Amino acid sequence: MIIELRRIFESDDIKQEFAYEFDAGDELISTPIVVKGYVKNATGIVSISAEADFSVSTQCAKCAKDIRKKLNVAVDHFLIDELHDEDNDEYIVVEDMNLNLDDLVLEDIYLSLPTRFLCKNDCKGLCPYCGMDLNEGSCDCKKPIDPRMAALQALLSDDE
Ligand SMILES: [Zn+2]
Ligand SMILES: [Zn+2]
Repeated sequence: MIIELRRIFESDDIKQEFAYEFDAGDELISTPIVVKGYVKNATGIVSISAEADFSVSTQCAKCAKDIRKKLNVAVDHFLIDELHDEDNDEYIVVEDMNLNLDDLVLEDIYLSLPTRFLCKNDCKGLCPYCGMDLNEGSCDCKKPIDPRMAALQALLSDDE
C-alpha cells in the first residue's frame, strides 16, 4: 500500500489510520501480513506506528521438524521529507511524499527475523550418527567430545 503523505505533512494535528493485508511473496512467510496502525503529525513531527502479524512456516534448524510460528513485528519510524543530520534507522526519508508501506513493513520484518528457527528453545536435535530425534529419547551412539574424535571413531568402527 502506498500512503500519500502530503496532507499529513501539511497539517499539524492529524492522524490517519490504516488496516490492510498483503502477501510477502516469500516461502518463509506463509500467511498474508496483516498490518494495522497509523501515521500522524503531532505539532510538525510525522511518525508511523504499526504492527504486522503473520506466520512463518519453516523447519527446525536442529531436528528439521516442520514448524509454524505466529509473529508480530512493530513498525515504528519518524518520517521526514529531507535528511538533515539524522543518521538513524528510526528516520525514514520520504522525498516524494509517497510511502511504500509494504516495503517498509517487509524491511522491518526481515530485520527482526532470527537467522534460524527452533521447534523449541532446548531442542536436542538429531543424533548425527543414527538420525534419531533426541527429543524423543536417546540412542546408543557414543557422544564424541570433539568432531575430529568422531571422524576417528567412525574410521575405527569400520574395521570391526
Ligand atoms: Zn527441533
Ligand atoms: Zn544415535
